[in-house]
Amino acid sequence: MKPAPFEYLAPDSLSAVVEIMSENGDDAKLLAGGQSLIPAMNFRLVQPMLLIDLNKVSELDYVISNENGELRIGAMTRQRRLETDPTIARQAPLIAETMPHVAHPQIRNRGTIGGSLVHADPAAELPVIMVALDGRLLVRSNSGERWISSSSCFQGIFTTDIKPEEVLIEVAIPPMAPRTGWSFVEFARRKGDYALIGVAAVITLDNSGHCIHARLVYLNAGDTPIEAQQAAAVLINEKLSPALYREAAEVADAAIEPTANIHASVPYLRHLSRVLTVRALDQAATRAMQKIQ
Ligand SMILES: Cc1cc2nc3c(=O)[nH]c(=O)nc-3n(C[C@H](O)[C@H](O)[C@H](O)COP(=O)(O)OP(=O)(O)OC[C@H]3O[C@@H](n4cnc5c(N)ncnc54)[C@H](O)[C@@H]3O)c2cc1C
Repeated sequence: MKPAPFEYLAPDSLSAVVEIMSENGDDAKLLAGGQSLIPAMNFRLVQPMLLIDLNKVSELDYVISNENGELRIGAMTRQRRLETDPTIARQAPLIAETMPHVAHPQIRNRGTIGGSLVHADPAAELPVIMVALDGRLLVRSNSGERWISSSSCFQGIFTTDIKPEEVLIEVAIPPMAPRTGWSFVEFARRKGDYALIGVAAVITLDNSGHCIHARLVYLNAGDTPIEAQQAAAVLINEKLSPALYREAAEVADAAIEPTANIHASVPYLRHLSRVLTVRALDQAATRAMQKIQ
């Protein structure tokens, strides 16, 4: 199918984009990489009156580390750059390591961090990683700017706290604490497919090897990224071990709500989740242990 008729604008500054959005609100859609929006328009699931192309707004394409060690990523930064940028690899290796799981190189060459986060597909990797890393999202409209925490941003399937007239401009990731390890694992039928289920783990240890922070966030296990807080709590103040990973995986089972599909039943998805949780915790904890002097 072809999309319904629409008007097209390609401004070259963020201020112009914000102005146009304030005038058109619900009738307009922003075009980033187009890897989700254009198929949706072709199927006429989305029929904007006006398409505002962000691809000339070069001021939204950047990766910087500020003086506090916080990583700032512009919304139009391509997914391929998230995979290859040395600053990201150094400061948020969980992002760099996860990106090869997102679609195929051709799609990552066009797709952006902002587009993936605003699209808010429960099967997408980037929203899960943002929650795991406690990232924040900066949005701008004619009324000003506001920060949204990643834990409150994702509200349902393809639904975020970002309002129709707001433009996502930046993502901020706090510096990684010392003695922190990370892992992302997922199960997909073929490389590049959306995963059946996946999990991100972040673990911080104290100097004696006890866990002082843990986060487990699941992909495709509910309508949004699912943070299993009670499962993470199992690990706190403990010396980590495979038995504890298995216990956390059992507790996480209560937090997730995977849906059966043509490829997998719910019991199979729950089995995968337990297996992947143990693997992710093992890798994250091993990496954290390696940082203890
Ligand atoms: C075959 C295929 C396989 C894929 N597999 C995966 C996968 O395994 N994992 C995965 O995570 N993704 C996958 N994707 C999706 C891909 O990652 C897309 O790049 C992503 O979902 C959308 O990013 P985009 O930049 O293309 O955004 P677009 O498609 O341009 O936009 C998506 C939505 O975000 C809005 N938007 C974009 N930028 C902004 C902004 N700055 N402010 C406010 N709103 C904005 C748009 O208006 C639109 O509603 C796949 C896509 C395809 C085609």
